Amino acid sequence: MGIGNVFERVFAGKWIAGARISDAIRRTRQLNALGESAIINYIGESLTDKRDIADAVSINLRLIREIRKEKLKASISLKLTALGLSVSKNLARKNYGRIVGAARRQGIFVWIDAESQDTIEDVISIYEGHVRKGGVGICLQSYLRRSGHLMQRLIKRKAVVRIVKGAYKESSKIAFETRKETTENYRMLMREAFAHLKEFTIATHDSSLIGEAMELNRSHRRRVTYAMLNGIRNRYAASLAAQGSSVAIYVPFGTRWIGYALRRLREESHLILVLRSLLGG
Ligand SMILES: Cc1cc2nc3c(=O)[nH]c(=O)nc-3n(C[C@H](O)[C@H](O)[C@H](O)COP(=O)(O)OP(=O)(O)OC[C@H]3O[C@@H](n4cnc5c(N)ncnc54)[C@H](O)[C@@H]3O)c2cc1C
Repeated sequence: MGIGNVFERVFAGKWIAGARISDAIRRTRQLNALGESAIINYIGESLTDKRDIADAVSINLRLIREIRKEKLKASISLKLTALGLSVSKNLARKNYGRIVGAARRQGIFVWIDAESQDTIEDVISIYEGHVRKGGVGICLQSYLRRSGHLMQRLIKRKAVVRIVKGAYKESSKIAFETRKETTENYRMLMREAFAHLKEFTIATHDSSLIGEAMELNRSHRRRVTYAMLNGIRNRYAASLAAQGSSVAIYVPFGTRWIGYALRRLREESHLILVLRSLLGG
């Protein structure tokens, strides 16, 4: 077995559900049995080949039918650059609209992942075109210096927001450089969400932020979901679900997993965390 295969096996087994829809469905069934839901992502980004983009659309449409057929507790999450945003905004808008239309008919919620900062304006404006009809959410990265403004814009639209710290490499002009600042900003965004939104997702493995959110929700009583990545602190996630919290696990599947795995690996001091997650979860 080559080094590539070893790498694939290790990561495919730990962070990625597998190559096929059936792998994501199997992982979702396990999570549902533990009282957790899944946020399923067909991995893909920065696609420019028309056939690859069309495949991404049709796999997401199949995924929606499978979730419905299997009566699973799951939403899906999409990157707009997998749906054609790197080719044209119109193509991404059209493909996203098609997937959202199908998902709405089946009662399945659709998230948009947050990508690198150059996509944000297009992503938010495409999302804004659909938010009124419901059933759609958007991810916001707390490392962005302007995420407070973006949050205000999303609050005005009564958006459903998933708050994350952010996983891309951005310049210090655009993003906070230290974990401390990013976490502090996360806290600010979280407080805004509690003050103004009915429903949102706290997506982090950071137990101090999760603890604070739980504390805030004692008085605010919002519909809060706590979300973590497949293979990272999943025992902790299961314990939150067992105590009655709404918990979702982000379950990526597909063969284009390199970019995803590299972002997890880059997460740093994270080498320790990555090793921990590989050993235990
Ligand atoms: C559901 C979900 C969806 C996401 N979607 C996006 C997206 O669309 N776009 C995007 O840019 N990013 C996304 N991310 C990734 C996110 O931006 C961060 O890169 C990632 O979550 C790591 O940051 P953290 O919030 O866990 O905090 P960190 O600062 O990385 O970690 C905080 C603390 O959590 C604990 N911890 C973390 N990992 C482990 C571990 N393996 N074992 C034990 N303890 C651990 C440690 O105590 C650590 O100090 C998503 C994350 C989640 C959970």
